[in-house]
Amino acid sequence: MDRTAVTAVLGRLDLVRPWQEDFYRDLHAHPELSHQERRTAANVSARLAETGYDVHENIGGTGVVGILRNGTGPTVLMRADMDALPVLEQTGLPYASTRTADDGTAVMHACGHDVHVTCLLGTTALLAQSPEQWSGTLVAVFQPAEETADGAKAMLDGHLTSLVGKVDVALAQHVLPLPAGQVGTRPGPVLSAADSMRIVVHGRGAHGSMPQAAVDPVVLAAMIVVRLQTVVGREVAPGDTAVLTVGSLQAGTKSNVIPDHAVLQLNVRTYDERTRATVLAGIERIVRAECQASDSPKEPEFELFDRYPLTDNDAEVTSRVSAAFADFFGDGAGVLPQQSASEDFSDIPNALGTPYSYWGIGGIDPDRYRAAEAAGRIAQDIPVNHSANFAPVLQPTLDTGTQALVVAGLAWLR
Ligand SMILES: [Zn+2]
Ligand SMILES: [Zn+2]
Repeated sequence: MDRTAVTAVLGRLDLVRPWQEDFYRDLHAHPELSHQERRTAANVSARLAETGYDVHENIGGTGVVGILRNGTGPTVLMRADMDALPVLEQTGLPYASTRTADDGTAVMHACGHDVHVTCLLGTTALLAQSPEQWSGTLVAVFQPAEETADGAKAMLDGHLTSLVGKVDVALAQHVLPLPAGQVGTRPGPVLSAADSMRIVVHGRGAHGSMPQAAVDPVVLAAMIVVRLQTVVGREVAPGDTAVLTVGSLQAGTKSNVIPDHAVLQLNVRTYDERTRATVLAGIERIVRAECQASDSPKEPEFELFDRYPLTDNDAEVTSRVSAAFADFFGDGAGVLPQQSASEDFSDIPNALGTPYSYWGIGGIDPDRYRAAEAAGRIAQDIPVNHSANFAPVLQPTLDTGTQALVVAGLAWLR
């Protein structure tokens, strides 16, 4: 790592921090749902324009791209997601969400995307203010709709590819329920691939007192749920990892009416394409076989949705990022455990043919985290992403996220 450049660029963090903290509090108080990030996008665009970026708005809907060309050298793409979730905030923070969506749904930055936006904006300002310390092109991508798995694809459909041209490396980060001040990445699969599936199974409706006249889809669906537990337990090799959750099972309206169909909604997480194919094929085979066993009068219907790609960190890029992190953060840098969450970030570098690294930063007050750890109560006491109580501490979270982007970016731009 070039310490001189990192020190010089981050030397201005004291000047950037006050507006970053204000920007963050304002953004946290004004979250917007996926594809509705209009206020956020406008504020991001204004900041980028002020600091001298070439700004491109409405990329894939509400997406924003800021480009800063600063001489010859590599092109580094950094991405932050902007959307919030339909969650009623319970943090009690003075800057808690005050917003509802157009239809009245409560909205909250419960996944920390406000942290990502603020850190990337800070990074764009810092690099713009020290042009003599680096050379190359910085592409800052502010992406809509990560939570609905289609924001990255929307930006690609919105000509992101032709806009950015050849990109040498892509970087992204996520705030996680780890101690604030920590940063970690890992080579290879770091986030899972995700698939959601809606399945309709058919029966024959009848009076609840006359089961002989029915094909009961409630019993059929119950058998499917039980049998699906064998997919991970009996079909996935012990060294491989998969999660299969039936998150929703709906059938019927009344105690004495046997309904004519049931709807199941499943969620699948895997870390490689082979396991993904095994699990999806296993689900379909079991559902079809159980329908046959119940004498279902009609073939079941399958619909895949909310599909997230695997996030598979490039070994070479990640080793360079890890080395830069270790040099700058010392003990604060580590190896990120494999996460069962999913992301659509990798759709962008995959489409561009660009190697990438994705890392995590902590957002939890370190004392609180250590107390929970000592009590063996991390899972119970530390609110995780998507919880109504998820509340990253302002600092050192924003500093760490900003420093991580600057340090990793300069590993190429210097
Ligand atoms: Zn999320
Ligand atoms: Zn997220």
